[in-house]
Amino acid sequence: MDRIYNVGIIGGGISGVVTALQLAKYEIDSVLFEQKNSVVNGPPFCHLHAGGNLYPDISDEQCRVLMKQSIEMARLFPQSIDERPTFISIPKSEKYEVAKIESRLEMLVEYYKQLILKDPSNEILGSPKDYYEIYSKEDLKVLAKQPTVKRPNSSDEWMSNTIKLIDYEKLKTPVIIVQEYGWNLFRLGAQAQLALNKSDNCSLKTNTLVTNVKDLRNQNLDYNWEICTNEKVYKVKYLVNSCGFKTGQIDEVLRLNAERLIEFKAAYVSKWQPIPGLIPELIFHGERGTPHGMVQLTPYCDDYYQIHGMTKDITLFENGLIKLKSSEEQPEFKDDIKQKLDCGWEEEEVKSRTKNAIDFVAKFVPLFKSANVGGPPLYGAQQISGNDLSLRVGEVSFPSKSYARSEIIKASSALTVANQILNKIQDEEIIPLINTKPNQNLLLDSISKDEIDKMACELAVQRGYPEALSQLVIEKKQNNFQEIL
Ligand SMILES: Cc1cc2nc3c(=O)[nH]c(=O)nc-3n(C[C@H](O)[C@H](O)[C@H](O)COP(=O)(O)OP(=O)(O)OC[C@H]3O[C@@H](n4cnc5c(N)ncnc54)[C@H](O)[C@@H]3O)c2cc1C
Repeated sequence: MDRIYNVGIIGGGISGVVTALQLAKYEIDSVLFEQKNSVVNGPPFCHLHAGGNLYPDISDEQCRVLMKQSIEMARLFPQSIDERPTFISIPKSEKYEVAKIESRLEMLVEYYKQLILKDPSNEILGSPKDYYEIYSKEDLKVLAKQPTVKRPNSSDEWMSNTIKLIDYEKLKTPVIIVQEYGWNLFRLGAQAQLALNKSDNCSLKTNTLVTNVKDLRNQNLDYNWEICTNEKVYKVKYLVNSCGFKTGQIDEVLRLNAERLIEFKAAYVSKWQPIPGLIPELIFHGERGTPHGMVQLTPYCDDYYQIHGMTKDITLFENGLIKLKSSEEQPEFKDDIKQKLDCGWEEEEVKSRTKNAIDFVAKFVPLFKSANVGGPPLYGAQQISGNDLSLRVGEVSFPSKSYARSEIIKASSALTVANQILNKIQDEEIIPLINTKPNQNLLLDSISKDEIDKMACELAVQRGYPEALSQLVIEKKQNNFQEIL
């Protein structure tokens, strides 16, 4: 007789894999389908939004949720967290006020303290008193005269290295250093894939496209759904749709279409000259979608830098946003974007958009003008449920019995979604009630740093990126930071 799985998960992005890993932690069996040859291979992520400081317009509540969820994910995948801070600034041309950001930071420090009080292991962003540091123009003048430090150890040292490279006359003051860290997708993907391969409870099916789902809920069987692939049909009791921007395709089969936005975006890989000391991630705020949208420069090892520029000729695209009403079928992107998603990029466009991105950064970091293309763009489409493009926290919905639809906007929401699904399958009595919930996931913890290093490097190279993108700038080793510059 064919095996019946408790849970069938379609989509092996961060949401699907974290759901499978949470289920495996409680020995709940699942089958996970990913059409590509490795997991966490969808749209990229590079920033752990532990406070929402890249978004001056979002609500305080979204900032708190982003902080809490980021801490939870960092605890689950510590080897993917790059503990370098973020420099936050507002150009003089922009409407945002530093005072507003500052008062939000004060609120976040109080919230961070509460999280630590609840569980001391939540202290992964350093001490709350160091969560952020504010620098006036006078402070910057003093720090600009300090010697550059190869591997900074304090906010002052990070700021001192930064300020020598930046045209800070263009910025409002004060400027800020905040402990929002980097997040390495290749390392997270590696740890997740190695753990799932090892799991007795999750059957991971990579290179496996789900072609259809049959609803058998009214047929009084021991299972509710048949998940069809080209080779085989799988029987499952509970269905999880974590198909990323393609969740609508499964919804359509089940006639459960929902209102959503789908957006295609890209970040660019550049290589710069060696500089004397590490710098944090650099943020120059700006109004999204205008020619002066936000600039984000993310440092990697070996002088590689990733660039986002929130304008239509860098990260955003003409026709890059699809709005979908609940009555409509999932539409396709126009040909140029579809081509990128299905077959990759034309070399000319890689060059021209990366060049635009480099020039955009050089407005604030003049020496960056000498950077060159360092690899293919990191790109993908993501969705936002409903119709609010400024929403940054999206989670899971349960539109029908035995069916969950994950629609995360930031990768940090993946564990919250997994736990909500875990609760739902207990409510529906698909599994018995779970009484004890340990913090640790032993399966993930059993994967060594060396295994992650090796596999993360393989994943980066397989996907056409420089090996350096799989490494951490600030490496975490037995609770000691190790410099690898
Ligand atoms: C340019 C860019 C930068 C970003 N930066 C950040 C960041 O810094 N920090 C952050 O937190 N978030 C960031 N995000 C958002 C983040 O990438 C997404 O939130 C996250 O990847 C969504 O994960 P997911 O698992 O829901 O979907 P996905 O990662 O899209 O996974 C869905 C998976 O389902 C598979 N699939 C779909 N249909 C089928 C099928 N029929 N059969 C089998 N498999 C199927 C796909 O192949 C895919 O692997 C960024 C997004 C973009 C586009």
